[in-house]
Amino acid sequence: MASNGYRNGILKGSVKVEKLSPSSNPKPSSIKSKTTSTQVSSVRRSSPASLGGVGSGVKGDSGVPGRVRVAVRLRPRNAEEQVADADFADCVELQPELKRLKLRKNNWDSDTYEFDEVLTEFASQKRVYEVVAKPVVESVLDGYNGTVMAYGQTGTGKTFTLGRLGEEDTAARGIMVRSMEDILADICPETDSISVSYLQLYMETIQDLLDPTNDNIPIVEDPKTGDVSVPGATLVEIRNQHSFVELLRLGEAHRFAANTKLNTESSRSHAILMVHVKRCVKGSEAALSIENGNGSHMSKNFRPPLVRKGKLVVVDLAGSERIDKSGSEGHTLEEAKSINLSLSALGKCINALAENSPHVPVRDSKLTRLLRDSFGGTARTSLIVTIGPSPRHRGETTSTIMFGQRAMKVENMVKIKEEFDYKSLSRRLDIQLDKLIAEHERQQKAFQDELERITIEAQNHISEVERNYAEALENEQSRYQKDYKESIKKLEEQWMLNQQKLNSDRARVEVKQEPLDMGLAVAELQKSLQNEINLRKAAEEEVNSLKSQLVQWRRSEAVGNAEVLKLRKLLEDEEHQKEKLEEEIAGLRSQLLQLSFEADETRRSLDRGGSGKILTGLDSLMSQVRNSQIKDSGNGQKAPIVNLFEQVGLQKILSLLESEDSDVRIHAVKVVANLAAEEANQEKIVQAGGLTSLLMLLKSSEDEMIRRVAAGAIANLAMNETNQELIMDQGGISLLSMTAADADDPQTLRMVAGAIANLCGNDKLQITLRGEGGIKALLGMVRCGHPDVLAQVARGIANFAKCESRASSQGTKAGRSLLIDDGALPWIVQNANNEASPIRRHIELALCHLAQHEVNAKDMISGGALWELVRISRDCSREDIRTLANRTLTSSPTFQAELRRLRIEC
Ligand code: ADP
Ligand code: MG
Repeated sequence: MASNGYRNGILKGSVKVEKLSPSSNPKPSSIKSKTTSTQVSSVRRSSPASLGGVGSGVKGDSGVPGRVRVAVRLRPRNAEEQVADADFADCVELQPELKRLKLRKNNWDSDTYEFDEVLTEFASQKRVYEVVAKPVVESVLDGYNGTVMAYGQTGTGKTFTLGRLGEEDTAARGIMVRSMEDILADICPETDSISVSYLQLYMETIQDLLDPTNDNIPIVEDPKTGDVSVPGATLVEIRNQHSFVELLRLGEAHRFAANTKLNTESSRSHAILMVHVKRCVKGSEAALSIENGNGSHMSKNFRPPLVRKGKLVVVDLAGSERIDKSGSEGHTLEEAKSINLSLSALGKCINALAENSPHVPVRDSKLTRLLRDSFGGTARTSLIVTIGPSPRHRGETTSTIMFGQRAMKVENMVKIKEEFDYKSLSRRLDIQLDKLIAEHERQQKAFQDELERITIEAQNHISEVERNYAEALENEQSRYQKDYKESIKKLEEQWMLNQQKLNSDRARVEVKQEPLDMGLAVAELQKSLQNEINLRKAAEEEVNSLKSQLVQWRRSEAVGNAEVLKLRKLLEDEEHQKEKLEEEIAGLRSQLLQLSFEADETRRSLDRGGSGKILTGLDSLMSQVRNSQIKDSGNGQKAPIVNLFEQVGLQKILSLLESEDSDVRIHAVKVVANLAAEEANQEKIVQAGGLTSLLMLLKSSEDEMIRRVAAGAIANLAMNETNQELIMDQGGISLLSMTAADADDPQTLRMVAGAIANLCGNDKLQITLRGEGGIKALLGMVRCGHPDVLAQVARGIANFAKCESRASSQGTKAGRSLLIDDGALPWIVQNANNEASPIRRHIELALCHLAQHEVNAKDMISGGALWELVRISRDCSREDIRTLANRTLTSSPTFQAELRRLRIEC
């Protein structure tokens, strides 16, 4: 706002007043020019760029540059001058539009000076205020310090400019009155405050113009901030313009009185008006409203209100003329020096500040100390220098102008005086605290009251409950007492009744009996009652024990029953078994009877020579014989066979083999076969020519069954070594081979194969057997595939191989196995792992036997038998065969070589 010079018209009116700006107004300048020269020379500017926005609310610790503004005011000629200087021109010539002043040195020479404002003798008081003081006042209202000071020779209008009250003519009002008017118009009476001190400084003594008794006020400096204050001065709060004017008048009166008393003139003293403006910054009113009891938010309570404290200092300096020149007051030189000490100190300070001297002798005088903030400090300062027109005072006028020029170079750093109002906060908090304490006390009281009330209530309740309880107890007690009494009464009545009854009974029954003592009778009764009770108890105990016994009995009975059932069942089983046996016995008996009958029949018919039904009898006989043989084998009963031979005769039976009747032949061959199954009969059968007959049947019979049974009989007979040779001698192999070739029935083949197999086990018959086609016959029979047949074939081969190996080990056989010659090897290999164990075992043995003869090795290898041997040596479940196979393999160099070749570990 005021950054470009005096704040004129930006805020409050006076827009018509010429606005000063650095560009239009080159500041502190001293244009010295000869009247002969039109050129403007040596214009000096003092850092115009440093003029910052002071009033814009910018704040900072260091502040913003704000140069001291200086205006010059020319007083009109007074009456005396108008007369005395009538023939002379004024010593100055003003060029207000250029803000220049020409100081005439003589008729042809003048110096030109530039000021911030040049006010002619026609300038109104209003304009002077607005140009010089108003910007400062506005700054003060914004929270800055401000100084307005008048400097000039006595009588040039300092007091006129500053202190005119203008009561008779408002237009004449000076800066003090007008400042207060503006301040009062701007502040908020509710939140802001104005207070005023009015002092006089004379001969380095500060006197209170508002309280003349207070005539030596000390200056106090805040060691921290360096702020200067005069706490001893009277501070009067200003509420309105009138009271302020009154105050000024009072001050003026006191000043006059003081000067009279001190035998001096007011022109020798400095008058200092201090206006403190304290304003609450907008936005902190909320906090204040709490202070006023309107707020409800506690949090805001702790934010202190922000206040701005501006101080306006208006200084009406003593006359600047040299004292020795005036010399009218009669002071000594020392006194004169003291009178002007402050003023000359001010000059020195301003010189120092103007020249940016490192040392400013502020402390040299009380005035400079008081004005510390005004020059080179933080205040916005306006200086008005007043001059008179008279050429007679040219010297004073010149020095005044030079003072003003120097002051223009003084740069202040204006700074807002804003601070938190902790006092106010503290006050508010105190109030709040008081309220809270009161509230707390109130609540505590209420709480205690409530507590008391509850306690009393509880006590009442307890006593009531106690009372009720006691009452109930009493009631209960009386009820019980009543009941008790009633029962007693009833008992007594009962007793009385009993007594009466007893008496009457006694009277009735025992007329003669002496009257018994009542007590005795009762005692007896009691005794008998006791007896009864004891008896009953004993009876009860007995019952209980019986009961428990019963339970036990029942339990054991159940167990016994189960046992009985089991035994019964066993018995039944036994009986059943017995019945069955008896049945069997009966059956057997009847069979026996039948048999003996049949035997008789047979004997009779044999005796008669008829063949008839003999065979039927034989058959059944044979079956019976076999049956009984099986059953009675344990007893070694040979009776039936003996009987048979005895009864029938072997020769007769054998003769029947050649019977014409095929049925007879069949029966006969069966009987023979059965007989041949018994080793004991074999020799007899052979001796009786049975073998030959049987071989004949193989040869001649066309009935397969006969051939089969005959073959079976031959097989049985072939178990004997002697018989084997006989069979061979009688061309048995050929006959058996033939039978084998013709037969389809597996049973026939089995018999034949069995017979040949038996023959194969004979060492002596090897060559013949093979020569007569025995081996081929054996191999031929595998075609039927029946496991029983295959088993017999395998047995035969094994037998044969065994004999061969035996022969080779004995050195009687050198050549290759006849089995291999006859092409048995493929079948052997093929069935070596047959799933039927009888086949498998025989073949395994056969392989082992074959392998024992080195000459067979090559064929066995090529025929795949080696693998089977390896398998047998590893997997065979029979240890002996396994061992045999192993030994065979390890002992044969050929097998060893082959296994090595195949990298098989064995
Ligand atoms: P100072 O205070 O400087 O000694 P004053 O203010 O007492 O001087 O003025 C001296 C006289 O001059 C007073 O009578 C005053 O009325 C008069 N005077 C001063 N300035 C003016 C002015 N600008 N116009 C009219 N009269 C003035
Ligand atoms: Mg004066």
